[in-house]
Amino acid sequence: MQNTVTPTHCPYCALQCGMNLTPAADGTVEVGERADFPVNRGALCGKGRTAPQVLASGARLTSPLVRSDGGELVPAGWDEALDRIAGGLARTRAERGADAVGVFGGGGLTNEKAYALGKFARVVLGTSQIDYNGRFCMSSAAAAGTKAFGLDRGLPFPLEDIPRTGCVILVGSNPAETMPPSLRYFTELRENGGTLIVVDPRRTRTAEQADLHLAPRPGTDLALALGMLHLVVAEGRVDERYVEERTAGWEEARAAAMAHWPEYVERITGVSVPELREAVRLFCAPEAAMVLTARGPEQQAKGTDTVGAWINLCLATGRAGRPLSGYGCLTGQGNGQGGREHGQKADQLPGYRRLTDPAARLHVAGVWGVDPDSLPGPGRSAYELLDALGTDVRALLLMGSNPVVSAPRAAHVEERIRSLDFLAVCDVVLSETAALADVVLPVTQWAEETGTTTNLEGRVLLRRRAVTPPDGVRGDLEVLHGLADRLGVEKGFPTEPEEVFEELRRASAGGPADYSGIDYRRLGEGNGVFWPCPAPGSEGPPHPGTPRLFLDRFATGDGRARFAAVAHRPSAEEPDEAYPVLLTTGRVLAQYQSGAQTRRVAELNAAAPGPFVELHPRLAARLGAAEGDPLAVVSRRGRAVAPARITTGIRPDTVFMPFHWPGEGRANTLTNPALDPTSRMPEFKVCAVRVEVAR
Ligand code: SF4
Repeated sequence: MQNTVTPTHCPYCALQCGMNLTPAADGTVEVGERADFPVNRGALCGKGRTAPQVLASGARLTSPLVRSDGGELVPAGWDEALDRIAGGLARTRAERGADAVGVFGGGGLTNEKAYALGKFARVVLGTSQIDYNGRFCMSSAAAAGTKAFGLDRGLPFPLEDIPRTGCVILVGSNPAETMPPSLRYFTELRENGGTLIVVDPRRTRTAEQADLHLAPRPGTDLALALGMLHLVVAEGRVDERYVEERTAGWEEARAAAMAHWPEYVERITGVSVPELREAVRLFCAPEAAMVLTARGPEQQAKGTDTVGAWINLCLATGRAGRPLSGYGCLTGQGNGQGGREHGQKADQLPGYRRLTDPAARLHVAGVWGVDPDSLPGPGRSAYELLDALGTDVRALLLMGSNPVVSAPRAAHVEERIRSLDFLAVCDVVLSETAALADVVLPVTQWAEETGTTTNLEGRVLLRRRAVTPPDGVRGDLEVLHGLADRLGVEKGFPTEPEEVFEELRRASAGGPADYSGIDYRRLGEGNGVFWPCPAPGSEGPPHPGTPRLFLDRFATGDGRARFAAVAHRPSAEEPDEAYPVLLTTGRVLAQYQSGAQTRRVAELNAAAPGPFVELHPRLAARLGAAEGDPLAVVSRRGRAVAPARITTGIRPDTVFMPFHWPGEGRANTLTNPALDPTSRMPEFKVCAVRVEVAR
């Protein structure tokens, strides 16, 4: 065990808070403030503070497990486990073709792992069937951002710009619970005289801090944005010169918005016309303003259009690509940004290149030393891949994800996973998905390994190894190396993260997410580097990185941003007589995603011990439900039961459930896998349910 102080980053959310880790003689690890790291300036939430407890959790896997003839998972040696996985994947490939083998990754994997996993799928397995759980997280914002600006980077500016702008509209985002240290940026905004508008069907802890809280019916924020744009036009607040000089497509977008009268929008959303007018006034009054979205508008079957409508609002008022103004997405998972840039997504190659682009294929194939024609084309998106398990896709290698809890229509996904011919899972604990595997590999965690992540600002960071991993576990890169070797590819899968990063740099060079000017030495000396950061010419100074994008031009062919001509449409599933209530899902302060890690921490479990159904007193009275009563929430996909939590902070037509838990209270048993046509993001945020007291 090392005993020095190691500056590193939290394993959980996309803020990637800086922290110092100090291992103690008794095996515990102390978390200390890292005040010099600008993103969180030493502040951590409870999840980050307690993260080291997962390192020493009794639930930690320290030996590979293989399924015995009797059907039990039993300990095995690494060679046996890797042989079984290689055998299972090779057998399926030989019998049914390469696309019968699937790979599922995660938005928490480091850049190096995401890169190596994408390369492994395409070069070693030759399969197109790779995607990852980040598809569930922010893909609609990525799609809308790419359409509008030619490039997707969560925030095109650093967080430090937020307190200096004039107004922020936070749409479907609850940073007070999901990334608490970021709340200070909004507090400082208000202290500086700026205003905060929160759009959320619930009066969240974030909404409580707002100058204006708009609570639209779930699934109607597209209409809300259009109604605001209508008023912007009607009140003469369009920045005509900016629209003329820096955008394209305004006339179509304007015509679409003009069809959304405020009174019509009020009827759709439940947000009154005076509230709409006030929101427009607050947003347009200052010289600079921002719109930030998160999972609320994004996790819808019309998520791309919804985000596009919010971007329209920024463009029409001249609030994008200008100092202290712009649209941004608050990415969720720890490496949600980097995880979508380096090749584990079904349609992408490293450097945010498109798999369908011949020049991109040529470049990356050159780095990989393979024939570009040997690279498969795009595969299925995450839910479509999970839905194809046991039918078209018969074997799966899964890394850094727990879809039995986190995927929509989870009972169906669980059934699909059970029907696989072969499943291998790499994880740190026996997650609900790992428990179904034929082989489970115990892997190292954040503090036990070095690697890079890219936070929600596009800031590439170095996570450093601070403690020695327990005996019996190996890194994901070692796993891929061992499997590639067994599958006949002896070279190209190094186990040292820095070596992988050096290759990633070359693969990303010249791409939209260009990391070629970043190296471990540079990352180790500072507080991260913003991409794009191209390598300098032989004589030139190092590129400084790009904290602020689009100030001169957007990343489109002609440098202009594109409006989206979008119109309101209903959610995939609207309430009816049989299912009269809307369900929306989300996170709570003390748990993270599927809870595979945070449910192992006593302090977090004490704060958030299990699922609940949040509902308004009027709905509770109609159901005859009292606080704590078990409520059955039933959708067309299944039934979940959890205790009632009654609050006036939610709309009477809506119930809320957090999605961190498996079993009877699994919220994703209920959710609708209807997909956005562009981003293929499922509609986690809204479906129709029936609620009854479960007596
Ligand atoms: Fe970790 Fe996110 Fe909490 Fe920061 S806000 S400590 S990154 S979970």
